[in-house]
Amino acid sequence: MLDIAIVGAGPCGLATALRLHQRGFRPRIYESVAELQPLGVGIDVKVYGTRELDELGLLEEFRAISVDAEESIFYNNHGQEIYAERCGVHMGYLYEQRFVHRGYLQMLLHRTVLDRLGPDALVPGARCVGYTNGDDAVTLDLRHADGRTSQVVADVVVAADGIKSAVRRQMHPDSSRPTYSGITMWRGTTLMEPFRGGHTILHIGAPSVSSMIVYPIADDFEGSGLTLVNWVVEATRGESVEDWNQTGTVDEVLGYYDDCDLGFLDVRQMLRDAREVYLFPLIRHEPLDRWVDGRVVLAGDAAHAMYPRGGNGACQSIVDGRVIAEKLATTDDPVAALHAYQDERLEAVNRIVLAHRGEGYEVIRRMVEERTGGRRFDDIEQVLPLAEADAIFSRYHALVGQPRPGYAAGEATGFRTAGAESR
Ligand SMILES: Cc1cc2nc3c(=O)[nH]c(=O)nc-3n(C[C@H](O)[C@H](O)[C@H](O)COP(=O)(O)OP(=O)(O)OC[C@H]3O[C@@H](n4cnc5c(N)ncnc54)[C@H](O)[C@@H]3O)c2cc1C
Repeated sequence: MLDIAIVGAGPCGLATALRLHQRGFRPRIYESVAELQPLGVGIDVKVYGTRELDELGLLEEFRAISVDAEESIFYNNHGQEIYAERCGVHMGYLYEQRFVHRGYLQMLLHRTVLDRLGPDALVPGARCVGYTNGDDAVTLDLRHADGRTSQVVADVVVAADGIKSAVRRQMHPDSSRPTYSGITMWRGTTLMEPFRGGHTILHIGAPSVSSMIVYPIADDFEGSGLTLVNWVVEATRGESVEDWNQTGTVDEVLGYYDDCDLGFLDVRQMLRDAREVYLFPLIRHEPLDRWVDGRVVLAGDAAHAMYPRGGNGACQSIVDGRVIAEKLATTDDPVAALHAYQDERLEAVNRIVLAHRGEGYEVIRRMVEERTGGRRFDDIEQVLPLAEADAIFSRYHALVGQPRPGYAAGEATGFRTAGAESR
């Protein structure tokens, strides 16, 4: 049996271990952090991500820690509705789209790895600082939390060590330096009463100034009877470090929502009541032209760091794990298997990386801003006809690998909610 080492116990490394285990392998994960904590805020898991979790036998447990997404609604900066679509099974997909706390998802995968593969399947406090490819094996250099160094010899290394991947740096020493886009995300959570029944994602704002996305990630959070709501505000700002744990305040962005009246939610109050606020600059990592070096392969954010918009970073990283396991299980030569994974995934995922730098379907808010000069409108159908918005959404869903059911048959998929006209 192949000896497989995985670097990093984020969603990618953990899901890859579970996929490899399903195929009969016994991989071991080396994680730099001495004790995994449920860090991060919300992730919007698309229907194809939920399918992956079902195939891992985790659907019920995933449902227990996440919220079913029923509808997605778009507003201008005045709080006027532009467009709405249903999500997941409510749109006709076979799987649900669900909202989850990133840390809770990671902890579910972590627990499952320890249950299924055994407690020694994860080596915490072990940072990979380099690798050396040999003819028949690869050697990983590790630095441990207690200061020790050690080496591990494996047949294959899957590097899932995230946006600042040490393995990627070694594999691509000349790849261009990441550059700041000029946009920063303020990411946070607020414990509050649910809005619109507790299953809605909101997209708000005039993008030339600021955009906000809001969705619930946990009902009855820790027995409080309240909903934990995740929000992300994007606006221009000076550069800061690319660190998921960098904290900030909402003071700089509150003013962008002075005129925003949604009726059912006071977004300024929600921002003021934040339990935690993190800053995350949108950094451009240029797509890589290869993910394989000998017996070492990149996966997840290490292979394809993308702007954290729309949950595809997490979902695509989980797909990587399935494809790596499938190729290693069905190809005699492990190096050929790694290339087969790269051939299947690299081009398609790089297209998503580039698409995420643009606005994706969020472009409809900019179109409305431009067509109205940022002012209130009287009739949205005169500004952005439903059919025009529908075509934009259908193209995006197809790009990320989940074409809208019914669209090819000409069925209308978008809608406007009751009461949209009156605001
Ligand atoms: C602390 C944290 C908070 C996050 N919060 C959010 C969020 O709120 N919303 C969102 O959309 N995405 C968030 N992400 C990113 C998100 O998890 C990823 O985009 C996506 O899930 C892909 O996961 P990944 O496993 O490839 O990378 P990551 O989730 O970044 O996991 C990488 C893992 O590798 C470990 N690692 C790093 N370097 C080494 C090394 N040299 N040796 C060994 N181990 C190493 C890290 O400690 C981490 O556990 C967060 C990531 C982190 C690390």
